[in-house]
Amino acid sequence: MNLLIMGPPGAGKGTQAEVLVKELDITHISTGDMFRNAIKEGTEMGKKAKEYMDQGQLVPDEVVVGMVKDRLSQPDCQKGFLLDGFPRTVDQAKALDETLKDLGIKIDGVINIDVPREKLMARLTGRRVCRNCGASYHVIFNPPADPDKCNSCGGEIYQRSDDNEETVGNRLDVYVAQTQPLIDYYGKQNLVKNINGDQEIKKVLADILEAVK
Ligand SMILES: [Zn+2]
Repeated sequence: MNLLIMGPPGAGKGTQAEVLVKELDITHISTGDMFRNAIKEGTEMGKKAKEYMDQGQLVPDEVVVGMVKDRLSQPDCQKGFLLDGFPRTVDQAKALDETLKDLGIKIDGVINIDVPREKLMARLTGRRVCRNCGASYHVIFNPPADPDKCNSCGGEIYQRSDDNEETVGNRLDVYVAQTQPLIDYYGKQNLVKNINGDQEIKKVLADILEAVK
């Protein structure tokens, strides 16, 4: 089974991807790992990507898609794969379709984990960090015993500036603007499986498995 997974920051996509690949016995391809490996192994596409990155430039689509093609051609992808973090644009999605056609494979489903915006805001703005030792807390999921003090060192607890409402709100806006055209693109192919991500982790997984069955 060949799947894509999408979801906004804070939706628990990473957690679901990890358990899902075990459950379905397919290969997890996260674009970040794929980049690092291609560069480390010095593949042709990896070398090209590194040239752009060394110059502080964005890696062009043709190189990214080339890397994805190399990765999908490897034997461990024959049992199926979960593509995570790619494609990010409709152009990339079209290029991926071409690549898959060349390889004689197709996408069976696009998992779209959906969580209401106010829930995402609460999850993402709830992080607190100890100024002294860097210990990480969450006001809802993992609060310190004393809201102002670190459990382990007694240091001051504070909210990082990139966790504030404005920054988090912007991140979510960017995500929606970037992703909606992709959802529409795959929606036209009847591939999108909308999953309610505002539930217990186990229930979210069960819903995904039911949707892709
Ligand atoms: Zn501390």
